[in-house]
Amino acid sequence: MLQDQDRIFTNLYGMHDRSLAGAKARGHWDGTAGIIKKGRDWIIDQMKASGLRGRGGAGFPTGLKWSFMPKESDGRPAYLVINADESEPGTCKDREIMRHDPHTLIEGALIASFAMNAHACYIYIRGEYIREREALQAAIDECYDNGMLGKNAAKSGWDFDLYLHHGAGAYICGEETALLESLEGKKGMPRMKPPFPAGAGLYGCPTTVNNVESIAVVPTILRRGPEWFAGFGRPNNAGTKIFGISGHVNDPCVVEEAMSISFEELIDKHCGGIRGGWDNLKAVIPGGSSVPCVRGENMRDAVMDFDALRDVGSSLGTAAVIVMDNDTDIIKAIWRLSKFYKHESCGQCTPCREGTGWMMRVMDRLVKGEAEIEEIDMLFDVTKQVEGHTICALGDASAWPIQGLIKNFREEIEDRIKAQKSGRMGAMAAE
Ligand code: SF4
Repeated sequence: MLQDQDRIFTNLYGMHDRSLAGAKARGHWDGTAGIIKKGRDWIIDQMKASGLRGRGGAGFPTGLKWSFMPKESDGRPAYLVINADESEPGTCKDREIMRHDPHTLIEGALIASFAMNAHACYIYIRGEYIREREALQAAIDECYDNGMLGKNAAKSGWDFDLYLHHGAGAYICGEETALLESLEGKKGMPRMKPPFPAGAGLYGCPTTVNNVESIAVVPTILRRGPEWFAGFGRPNNAGTKIFGISGHVNDPCVVEEAMSISFEELIDKHCGGIRGGWDNLKAVIPGGSSVPCVRGENMRDAVMDFDALRDVGSSLGTAAVIVMDNDTDIIKAIWRLSKFYKHESCGQCTPCREGTGWMMRVMDRLVKGEAEIEEIDMLFDVTKQVEGHTICALGDASAWPIQGLIKNFREEIEDRIKAQKSGRMGAMAAE
């Protein structure tokens, strides 16, 4: 279990002073100018050595991503954009950083922007996060008042402006290129890639888009050293990580833990165990709503990192762990996600626009058992036609939960269809 002295986020629960003075007292903003004076290459090398992989879901190595930014400007400015949209269902980790420990993010934004030659950084915060925006804006204002932002930010010699932009509440704006479109004042629709944002991102300029947690951990990694960070978790899965555990556990919580902690330890130590005991565990969605669910018995021995969860047919995603016990109607739970993805599709590519609606309508019937057994394979086939055939990952996100359902709980779908046909079961109406 992670020791308190190894926690990066020392005010995750808002129990302490979140002002600049409070943050400094907890060790933040310590030697920031000195870190910046070590130069861009040093910072990027340290980040690479730390093994940090992006915390927004995809898990791309952060230092490597930064190294894609042009070393010399061709006349265009460079930008860092921080994705604070956090709209993946089940995910509620970045909000705790922004409302309770905002200085980790602001200091990280300054250092990361410097490393990528950016004098400006935009934080795009999700529409529903009103209190989080207020808290973060208050912290930004305090930093301006105290010389940590603006000209010669934190006496580093680097001029730096940080802007907080409030979104309007569309899930798709969490996709990095849709986020950039929205930031530019257009409809939040994903762009075709290439060009990638590092070549042509915000306003056509070199841009890196990083998740809140990925940026907020940067100052501590640089202060304590990449070896310290890399010392947590298994190789290729380094660091500490914020997990958000919801659903049928006794005490749902958000907690920073070492990567590669076992699922059992995470649930027993921090969540008071599964509701009704471990034998009552039915399924787990380990990384936010878009990743496939895993049967409970297959999760018990799993460890919580990128590689291990891939091995059990799912993904770490945003580390939003959704636990479901035996009381769960798993078909209905996945149907609800299908409805969500259908609603959030931006509609610009056919497999997603048509496929999400098609899948949701079949799921409508599966919930009630009003389908033929053959339709289960047809539905699986449609998910395969959507997956990988769309502009952005929302197509995959809509396909994977259904694939997980069919792979893991096929007998439950079949039973319901048979029960409905034989009149053994009253229809469970999908609301
Ligand atoms: Fe829009 Fe869906 Fe295509 Fe993404 S996959 S661009 S959300 S239609």
